[in-house]
Amino acid sequence: MIIDDQYYDVIVIGTGAGGGTIAHKLAPTGKKILILERGDFMALEEQNRTSVDVFKRERYHAPEQWYDSMGEPFSPQTNYAVGGNTKIYGAVLQRMRSRDFETVKHQNGISPEWCLKYNDFEPYYSAAEQLYRVHGNTAHDPTEPSHSQDYPYPAPDHEPRIQTLTEAIAQQGLHPTTLPLTLTRQDDDPTGDSEVFGIEPVLKSPNVTLITSAKVVSLHTNSSGQMIKAVQAEINGNPHLFLADVVVLACGAINSAALMLQSANEKHPDGLANGSGLVGRNLMKHLMTAIVQRDGKSNSGTFRRSVSVNDFYWGDENFAIPWAISRIQGDCSRM
Ligand SMILES: Cc1cc2nc3c(=O)[nH]c(=O)nc-3n(C[C@H](O)[C@H](O)[C@H](O)COP(=O)(O)OP(=O)(O)OC[C@H]3O[C@@H](n4cnc5c(N)ncnc54)[C@H](O)[C@@H]3O)c2cc1C
Repeated sequence: MIIDDQYYDVIVIGTGAGGGTIAHKLAPTGKKILILERGDFMALEEQNRTSVDVFKRERYHAPEQWYDSMGEPFSPQTNYAVGGNTKIYGAVLQRMRSRDFETVKHQNGISPEWCLKYNDFEPYYSAAEQLYRVHGNTAHDPTEPSHSQDYPYPAPDHEPRIQTLTEAIAQQGLHPTTLPLTLTRQDDDPTGDSEVFGIEPVLKSPNVTLITSAKVVSLHTNSSGQMIKAVQAEINGNPHLFLADVVVLACGAINSAALMLQSANEKHPDGLANGSGLVGRNLMKHLMTAIVQRDGKSNSGTFRRSVSVNDFYWGDENFAIPWAISRIQGDCSRM
């Protein structure tokens, strides 16, 4: 085992939405920060955000197999790279709604009340929207919660084809609204992500070190089991040990849970922070139903998603159970 000769104030594991954003927030404090990322920098390609590549051709799936609850193997859609899944995401940065934090009855069960409420998160949403240069418009959405700050930039126009659709939906008495999008305003890389807005700016800071291709395999606690004091990573096939006061685990919902489970020790035989036995359980993915409408007119098929309809978010007068958010999205012509 190679023991790193530095001692860090903070180790951040992962550079996705969580890790990239927290590294950006911590860097100006001057604390000595190590960022460990299992992936590498990702080439900027047209395919990064083209639905047909992301979804149909399964271009951005991790080179490993996971297993579903029936033990069946599958190829996971998760991206190991600097920026994590934000390198391939839709770049829609929506806030949760105030009522999402209350007890909500769904068709298949109850979503229990949170101990934190929307107002506890609101200042962080505002700060994140500033950092990620979110382009949006709070008007017209019947479910939009209150904002203490406006979006830093106005919503971009819809593509002409989407504008036509939006107007047709509004004529039905619904309230199509623009989706809040993180945009760089650069032609070669228009979409914001946690590499561009989080990691890249802090790499110039002398107190921040990023090591890529560093897969964390275990978290080590002190002898009482109360604190994580060391992080073990595989780098070029060799085990390395890094020491720190604080460890931020930001490997994504599944890999963070997996790491806590595989870090089980004598004090924590079922994995770290797993007194409940719920670590790694009840994880969900987007539940999606697609309605595809063919149109005689040809279109480029590459427009980004830019509009949503939230009129049925809390159900309607006939069915008072939340439906879902609807996003209208491009690329169907090429699928
Ligand atoms: C196709 C797609 C479209 C999406 N569209 C949207 C959208 O429009 N809006 C939205 O809000 N969300 C969207 N999401 C979801 C969003 O991308 C994720 O919620 C978000 O990226 C999660 O952030 P995270 O930091 O928790 O994890 P991730 O972004 O997954 O980052 C985890 C990081 O940790 C690294 N890592 C993992 N394990 C280890 C390890 N053992 N050691 C070291 N590093 C490790 C990974 O390489 C990665 O960089 C989308 C996701 C996908 C896949």
